[in-house]
Amino acid sequence: MAIETRKYLDSQNFMEIETPFLIKSTPEGARDFVVPSRMNPGEFYALPQSPQTFKQLLMVSGFDRYCQIVRCFRDEDLRADRQPEFTQIDCEMSFVEREDVLQMFEGLLKHLFKAVKGIEFNEPFERITYDEAMNYFGSDKPDLRFGMQMHDITSTVQGHGFSVFDSAEYVGAIAVPGCAGYSRKQTDELTEWVKRPQVGAKGLVFIKLGDEVKSSIDKFYTPEQIQEIANKCDANKGDLILILCGPKHKTQVALGTLRLEMGARLGLRKGDVFKPLWVTDFPLLEWDDETQRFYAMHHPFTSPKPEDLDKFFSNDKEALADVKANAYDIVLNGNEIGGGSIRIHDRKVQERMFEILGFTHEQAEYRFGFLMNAFKFGAPPHGGLAFGFDRLCALFGGQETIRDYIAFPKNNMGRDVMAEAPSVIDDSQMDELFLKSTYKKEETK
Ligand code: ASP
Repeated sequence: MAIETRKYLDSQNFMEIETPFLIKSTPEGARDFVVPSRMNPGEFYALPQSPQTFKQLLMVSGFDRYCQIVRCFRDEDLRADRQPEFTQIDCEMSFVEREDVLQMFEGLLKHLFKAVKGIEFNEPFERITYDEAMNYFGSDKPDLRFGMQMHDITSTVQGHGFSVFDSAEYVGAIAVPGCAGYSRKQTDELTEWVKRPQVGAKGLVFIKLGDEVKSSIDKFYTPEQIQEIANKCDANKGDLILILCGPKHKTQVALGTLRLEMGARLGLRKGDVFKPLWVTDFPLLEWDDETQRFYAMHHPFTSPKPEDLDKFFSNDKEALADVKANAYDIVLNGNEIGGGSIRIHDRKVQERMFEILGFTHEQAEYRFGFLMNAFKFGAPPHGGLAFGFDRLCALFGGQETIRDYIAFPKNNMGRDVMAEAPSVIDDSQMDELFLKSTYKKEETK
C-alpha cells in the first residue's frame, strides 16, 4: 500500500519531505505528548499530532506539492479503533481550490483500489454535504453500502394529539426492509437496544407494514395517517418502520446508529463491498457547552467558506455556529479514512480564528507566531488532506480495527505490554531533566 501510494504521488510530482517530531505543538483536537528537553531545562517539546503547520510552511516557502507517510501522536482516551501513534498519508498542494484537491486524492484512492485490491471505480465518488449526511444518515461518515435512509417526519406526525411527538424538536424514521414480521419480543428487544446509553434514545415507536398494518401508535393516528407516515418514509409492504424523536442532532445521531445496527443485523455491511464518498461543507466551529467556547471542528487552520466571511467576522454566536468550512472528509463504509481543507492563508482571517477559539493576541503569537509571520510574505492559497494509513489498510483487509494492522500496537491503556512501556525512569535521568514526579501509587489495602 505504501509503495503504491508513493508511486501515485510521485507520478503527480509530489515531493516527500520529512518534518520534525520534536516540535512546538500542532493542535488537532487531542492532547500533546510532551518530551522534556535536557539541554533546555524546564522546557518541553511536543510530539506532532500531525505535520499540519510544517506542510503549510513548506507551501509558503515554495514547495507546491508535499507528501509524507508519517507517524502522528495524539494523547487521547483510546476507543477501540484508536492508537496513540498512528500513520498518515499526509499531503499538501499550493495554488489549488477544493476541486483540485478532491480530484487528486480521489485519483489516489482509485489507484490504491486498483493496484492493491484489483477493484476499478469508473464513476466519480459520490459527494454529499455534512447537512445532508446528518439528515439522511445521522452521521458525518455515512455507510452507503445499504440504503435505509432517514426521513424527517416531524411535520407529518405533529398535531394529532400524541404529545410525545408534538413536544419533540425532531421526529425521524427509517424503513427496514422485510422486517414487518418482527415479533413483540423482537420489538421489545430493539426498544431496550435504543435505550442503551451508547444510543441514548428515550423509546422506540414502530409501524409494521405486514398483511395487516400494526403500530405502537394506533391510538393516536387513523389508518390513513399511518399510511401517510409510511409514504413519507418511502416504505413498502413488508417493511418495519422505526421512529425516534427528541432534540434534533442527538436524535439524528441515535437514528443513524439504529440504521447501522439494522444494516448489520440484515447482513448489509459486507467487508468486500466498498462505497467511498466525499462529505463536504462541514461546520467550521463546534460550540462546547461545558467550557462555553467554540472549538475548530477540523483544526484552526481551516478556512471558512468565502460566502460566510461576514458571519465569521460577526460577534453573533448563532451566526458563528452557522459558518461553513472549506473542509472535506473522505469516507469509506462508515469510516472516515481521510480529511482535509483549504487553509486560511490570510493573516487577518487566521488572527480572527484564534480570537474565536479564545486565544488572546499574545497567546496566539506565542503558539503560532511562526506560521502567522510566514503569511506576511504572501502565502499562496493552499490546501490538502491526510489519509489514515492504518485504517485504510484495515478496511482494504475487510476489517474495522486498526490494531491488527500495526506492528507492535498498544493496548487501550496506551501500553506496550510486551516491552512494558511506558515505565518509570531512573532518578538520575529525572534529575538530568530537572523533573520530579508527584504521582503516588494508590495504597493497596
Ligand atoms: N492535519 C489534518 C489531520 O491530521 C489533515 C489535513 O487537514 O490535512 O487531520
